[in-house]
Amino acid sequence: MRIAAVEPFIVHLPVTGNAIADSTHQVTHWGVVGTRIVTQDGLVGYGFTGTHAHLASDRLITACIADAYAPLLIGEDATERSRLWTKLARHPALQWVGRAGITHLALAAVDVALWDLAAKTAGLPLWALLGGRRTERLEAYNTDIGWLSYDLDTMLGLVRGAVEKDGFTRIKVKVGHENPLADIRRLEAVRAAVGPEVRIAIDANGRWDLPTCLRFVHAARDLDIFWFEEPMWYDDVASHAALARASSIPVALGEQLYTLDAFRTFIDAGALSYVQPDVTRLAGITEYIQVADLALAHRLPVVPHAGEMSQVHVHLSYWHPASTILEYIPWIKDHFEEPAAVEAGIFRLPQQPGASTTLKAASMEAFGKALR
Ligand SMILES: [Mg+2]
Repeated sequence: MRIAAVEPFIVHLPVTGNAIADSTHQVTHWGVVGTRIVTQDGLVGYGFTGTHAHLASDRLITACIADAYAPLLIGEDATERSRLWTKLARHPALQWVGRAGITHLALAAVDVALWDLAAKTAGLPLWALLGGRRTERLEAYNTDIGWLSYDLDTMLGLVRGAVEKDGFTRIKVKVGHENPLADIRRLEAVRAAVGPEVRIAIDANGRWDLPTCLRFVHAARDLDIFWFEEPMWYDDVASHAALARASSIPVALGEQLYTLDAFRTFIDAGALSYVQPDVTRLAGITEYIQVADLALAHRLPVVPHAGEMSQVHVHLSYWHPASTILEYIPWIKDHFEEPAAVEAGIFRLPQQPGASTTLKAASMEAFGKALR
């Protein structure tokens, strides 16, 4: 299982409806930026991080993989994931320039590729390699119906379709208008459309400040909001802790946290109730498991953020005991050999060996970008 080649790639895949927006981001394509790791006996592992398909920054990630990590990986035993993770993450020169950010996203891709290789070598889907499933039914919640760029009628049509036709009982709606009362009006319409049983989470993508959030949660107190995701600036521990103390709506966050230490800081401060790690922002599956174990030790539910559109998290959520539900965004699934699929609101259990990260060759060909 010696590593013979490290082959980075950049693929830009179009999102649903050509363009979407939340309060902070606008995207037309999702960047699948990562690497193939090829062993001497010809096995290929795929790992990637998720980006906004911004080619200049995507090339920083693949340059880190090609120029900094590949020389540290070639000739190594691919089964020694823990040692290789430490070798890359704690390399003195690399840790000097980045314990988060570009180097961390690049390490995420490498680590996921090594886990994909391990599962393929074992002939098992990742969830089975990790220890089997904790549940028969992993429930999905649908984020793709609630973008801030949708006008109210469009959103309500999509919400009704998701609930009445597709069988979702959980949805997430983006918020973050300059005047939060605009979001209250949209949420009142959604609640009226779906009735009292459907769980509605909301997500402000870090847009608001504490006074705005306090006004918002007061106005939203009768809407039975399931969680309030990323209400404020991603790194602001104190404000999230203050909001968590002041509101009955649980705070959810983690998609912008790079490290185990960052999660520990938020959890220690009592600043979140739903823990949202992401293998594409943490340094891969190795660090994700550390964060999920931390959440378990605090009896907090884990609800991953789908930076890889749930291709990998479906395995982790079927397995890890702190997992509860999982985000569903169907943008890129058709480009994988085994897509993350939802039927009647339940994720299909992956069957193929690996971490469900193998891209279709035709998609890599059609949507691939030059690395330099
Ligand atoms: Mg979010």
